Amino acid sequence: MANSSPAFPHASKMEVLFSKSRIAERVREIGAQISADYAGTSIVLIGVLKGAAIFLSDLARAIEVDNTFDFVAVSSYGRAKVSSGAVKLIKDIDNSIEGKHVILVEDILDTGLTLSYLRGMMLQHKPASLKIATCLDKPERRLVPIEADYVGFQIPNRFVVGYGMDYAEHYRNVEDIRLFPEEAVGH
Ligand code: 5GP
Ligand code: MG
Ligand code: MG
Repeated sequence: MANSSPAFPHASKMEVLFSKSRIAERVREIGAQISADYAGTSIVLIGVLKGAAIFLSDLARAIEVDNTFDFVAVSSYGRAKVSSGAVKLIKDIDNSIEGKHVILVEDILDTGLTLSYLRGMMLQHKPASLKIATCLDKPERRLVPIEADYVGFQIPNRFVVGYGMDYAEHYRNVEDIRLFPEEAVGH
């Protein structure tokens, strides 16, 4: 297969951190919690492209409350593997969120720079409420104080791929969340 070069080892060679079925079970739990917390309302889910696209698509279907989606895209400069800290909005929301109940949906809360920037931006649009849902949380990597309201799993400081999360744009389609081999990362 084209991607089986040393730079892009096949996903089947990587250790599974969370299996497809464990992820599905956790997404169902979070969906049920959000459905209870927002009962009788309508929610706008705002996904952060591209990493959160797959988590958002599963989460939206696990939420019984009426919901719509929107997406934002941000770029952070630097290497594929790390966030440099400089966050730039490259795609804004399409529809107004003023007076709406908004949940920002992310793949990983890492240093917190991306979500604190996005949270600040979203608050300027005066939503009725704003919460954060993240599939993964790496609390030990935080550079700015920010916590998610809904967390799939907390993980240690390891680089992961799959379930929407990439290494140099690859592996987003991998169904399990897997540990990317450190030796392939290149420091
Ligand atoms: P931060 O919280 O540092 O601003 O940015 C977090 C973003 O960096 C995540 O949303 C994700 O896109 C990316 N990121 C952080 N850790 C990992 C990881 O282990 N794997 C992958 N694929 N992306 C990561
Ligand atoms: Mg992300
Ligand atoms: Mg990425």
